[in-house]
Amino acid sequence: MTINPIYEHIGYTTLNREPAHKKPLPALKEAQVERDSSGEDENSEQRLTSLVRRATLKENEQVPKYEKVHNFKVHTFRGPHWCEYCANFMWGLIAQGVKCADCGLNVHKQCSKMVPNDCKPDLKHVKKVYSCDLTTLVKAHNTKRPMVVDMCIREIESRGLKSEGLYRLSGFTDLIEDVKMAFDRDGEKADISVNVYEDINIITGALKLYFRELPIPLITYDAYPKFLESAKAVDPNAQLEILHEALKLLPPAHCETLRYLMAHLKRLTLLEKDNLMNAENLGIVFGPTLMRAPELDAMAALNDIRYQRLVVEMLIKNEDILF
Ligand SMILES: [Zn+2]
Ligand SMILES: [Zn+2]
Repeated sequence: MTINPIYEHIGYTTLNREPAHKKPLPALKEAQVERDSSGEDENSEQRLTSLVRRATLKENEQVPKYEKVHNFKVHTFRGPHWCEYCANFMWGLIAQGVKCADCGLNVHKQCSKMVPNDCKPDLKHVKKVYSCDLTTLVKAHNTKRPMVVDMCIREIESRGLKSEGLYRLSGFTDLIEDVKMAFDRDGEKADISVNVYEDINIITGALKLYFRELPIPLITYDAYPKFLESAKAVDPNAQLEILHEALKLLPPAHCETLRYLMAHLKRLTLLEKDNLMNAENLGIVFGPTLMRAPELDAMAALNDIRYQRLVVEMLIKNEDILF
C-alpha cells in the first residue's frame, strides 16, 4: 500500500495497522476482527454484525464516539514540564517532547507511541473548518458529520432538488470562497440561506470545495486501492462485494459522511427528469472530488479518473444496500 508521506504525520494512514493503537476501543476492535478473520461461517456472521452496526448508526442521530489519533509535533517547552502519559519529568532545554496540535496533550516522544487514540480536539486549537481533517473537525465540534455537509445538503434539499444541472453547474467562484470564509469564521452559525446566497450553485460549489480541500479525501488513501479494485471488477456481484469490503476500511466519520452524501445524491437522481442529473453525471462530478490517488504519479492518477467516476456511480446506485 502506498502512503503519501505528506499525510503520514496525521496518522490516518496508519489507522488500520497494529502499532498505532495498543489499546483499541471496542468499535475498532470489532472492525479489526472482521478484517483478520478468514473462516467462512465467521465471515457471514460478522457481515451481519457489521450490517446491524450500520443500521444502528443510521437510526441513532446521537453523536457517535469516533476514535482519533493525536497529531503530535515536536515541541520546546518553557519551564519544567512533566509528561502527561508517564508523569515523569521532560528533560532537556529544547525539543523535550511532543505536543498534540489538536488537543494540546504534552508527552515524551517515546510515550507518544503508547498513548491511546483518544484525542479530543479543542476548538482553541482547531480554528478552521475547510482543509481541517474530517475526524478532527467533527470531534472538535461534537457533531456526527462535518457541519458544512449537513448544512449545505439541508439548504439544497429545502430549496428543491429540481434545479437543472445541480452540482454540474458552477456558481460564481468569489461567492463560493465567501461561503468557505463564513464557515471558517462562524462554524455552524454560518448563514448560507437564500437571503445571502440566492444562487443554489454557490451552495453546491461550496460543498464540492469542502471535499476537495480535505487533507485526507473522504475516500481515504488507505481505502483507495480497494475502492478502485471494485470498479475494475467485471462481475457486478463481485463489484458490490469488494465495495462493501472497501467501505469497512474507512474511518467511521468518513463512512458516515459518505453514507449521508450518497443518500442525498440518490434522492437527487430520483428527480432526474427535472434536474437532468443521474448517477453517471454525478459520478463525473464527484469521482475526483471524493477520491484522490495516493501515488504522486500524474499519469497513473489520470488513468484512475474513469474508475473514480464508476465508484461514485456504483455507490449512488446501490446506496440502499451498501450502507
Ligand atoms: Zn490530541
Ligand atoms: Zn512520558
